[in-house]
Amino acid sequence: MIDTHSHIYGEEYDGDRDAVMSAAKEAGVESIMLVNVDTTTIDRMKQAHSLYADCTYMAMGLHPTSVTESFAAGLALVDSELRTGAYRAVGEVGIDLYWDTTYKDLQIEAFESQVEMSLAYGLPLIIHTRKAFAELFASLKRFQGRELHGVFHCFGGGIEEAKKAISLGFYLGIGGVVTYKNSSLPDVLSRLSPDRLLLETDAPYLSPVPYRGKRNEPAYMAAVRDKIASVFSITAQKVDEMTTKNAQELFKLER
Ligand SMILES: [Zn+2]
Repeated sequence: MIDTHSHIYGEEYDGDRDAVMSAAKEAGVESIMLVNVDTTTIDRMKQAHSLYADCTYMAMGLHPTSVTESFAAGLALVDSELRTGAYRAVGEVGIDLYWDTTYKDLQIEAFESQVEMSLAYGLPLIIHTRKAFAELFASLKRFQGRELHGVFHCFGGGIEEAKKAISLGFYLGIGGVVTYKNSSLPDVLSRLSPDRLLLETDAPYLSPVPYRGKRNEPAYMAAVRDKIASVFSITAQKVDEMTTKNAQELFKLER
């Protein structure tokens, strides 16, 4: 398995990161995509990557909830980091109107700038969106006909949004939410083909059942994989194979 979205460089893991990494390996997680949030997380992420260089990759971007009036400086830093060639994706980027809509227009501007960067550097997008599918699809429409590709991380939309994302060339990132009792995600997924999915944790957030409420970690992703297998009535091994292949192709991970 490949955990395509993780923040295990965070201070939540400072006490036991080695143990978390070994547990991941033991659970069958062969590699982990470290995803940036804002200008304060870059150094930590790079440090974690250098310690676990054989099994981690990095994505660089400015998260929508970190966008404020001064976002231009953050974007300049993101661009100069991307230019180094050390990154496999632009992320996480997107539009989030769940917590706060104050910076909606700036979020859209920052997102579209980072879509341009993904096209300029030929890298896939890791998209975060919450309560903003309409705005997000409107932004993507501006780039129609260009080489858009990537993943809707922690996909939380309905069947129409899922189909639209896939038709635009994106994968759906599936994490712990699919295991929650009140989640509509299993029903949405069951109406799709299982071949456009990626596994992810979003650690430390969104732990799958039976770890819900605790700090998440890559080893727990097996519970997500098993749930997807049951939704599609296929084997866990088949889910491993399909999602790993998808992640390798999207992020060009062959080595
Ligand atoms: Zn994230």
